[in-house]
Amino acid sequence: MIRKLLSCLLAVLLLCPLFPASADESSDGLWICLCCGSETSGTVCSFCRAVKGVWTCQGCGNRNLSDTCRTCGKSKEDSLQEQAFCGDLLRAWPAVRYLAALRHGDALCALAEYYESGFMLEKNSDAALACCMVAADSGYAPALVLIGKAYDRGTWVVQDEFTAMDYFRKAADQGIPEAYWYLGTFYEEGVVVTRDYAKAAELYRTAAEAGDADSWMSLAAMYSFGRGVDRDPDTAMAFYEKAAEGGSHLACDYLGYVYMTGELVPADPEKGLQYYRKAAELGNSRSMMALGYAYQTGQGVEADLTEAARWYEQAAVAGREDAQAALDALNP
Ligand SMILES: [Zn+2]
Ligand SMILES: [Zn+2]
Repeated sequence: MIRKLLSCLLAVLLLCPLFPASADESSDGLWICLCCGSETSGTVCSFCRAVKGVWTCQGCGNRNLSDTCRTCGKSKEDSLQEQAFCGDLLRAWPAVRYLAALRHGDALCALAEYYESGFMLEKNSDAALACCMVAADSGYAPALVLIGKAYDRGTWVVQDEFTAMDYFRKAADQGIPEAYWYLGTFYEEGVVVTRDYAKAAELYRTAAEAGDADSWMSLAAMYSFGRGVDRDPDTAMAFYEKAAEGGSHLACDYLGYVYMTGELVPADPEKGLQYYRKAAELGNSRSMMALGYAYQTGQGVEADLTEAARWYEQAAVAGREDAQAALDALNP
């Protein structure tokens, strides 16, 4: 209770200087520029000179002042939402800041990412947490998972797995699939609670059936080790495939390995490489290394040193520390 009061107080204290009272205009005349994301006053942005209220349509690129694009008819609201979650932090910034000032839960959580990374804003863990607290208080349940993660990993706050579990439980109560997965890991590892494989498997299943692809992978592992369920390699493989279909890069990487090496299933390098490619496209750097190695050694594919180098370079960009050594070995 005291912790909750303190965190709310913290949120209020932190958010006051962070946002104007309104995205469009607060009592002190401040507004958020939709072209550069700055907080400014007057009739034109003092940073980029854009006229107050002008927004760029994400459908056609037209600049507008009215609530719908006069060229393609897209609404300002849809356009801002699309911009805020386009995946490009720089382009998203003005929309994220504007929607966060309107207290949109998803935008507040996106703003937390900026505070975490220090991109566009000074790095500030307290502010990141505060953004998610406000989002959670406004009823945006996925924010509860982010707060739980912060406590679980000790990123924005001192690590506290009990509090983490509390938040995951609250999020699970509201039906957030990822929260069931986190609870499953607590039961599987015996963190905070007594280890209970059957309960963990049940939680993974709930999460998986609700659409969390990585949870199929966790459930598959339970079947392949016989933890909390009867050991059943065929079901395990079927669930790994489901995870991969659902877009889990970890499952794709794992299946790539399984088919390349012929562990558990008859070796099928062509299929293995397909999975590695899918995992790499989803950003899995281990698969990028594996593809580099396959092209370097001609494993399941015709050897091609240029292609090998291309994959090692991608792995290096993705932060893989052993990629440079692999590149050096390729070009001695
Ligand atoms: Zn501006
Ligand atoms: Zn338009």
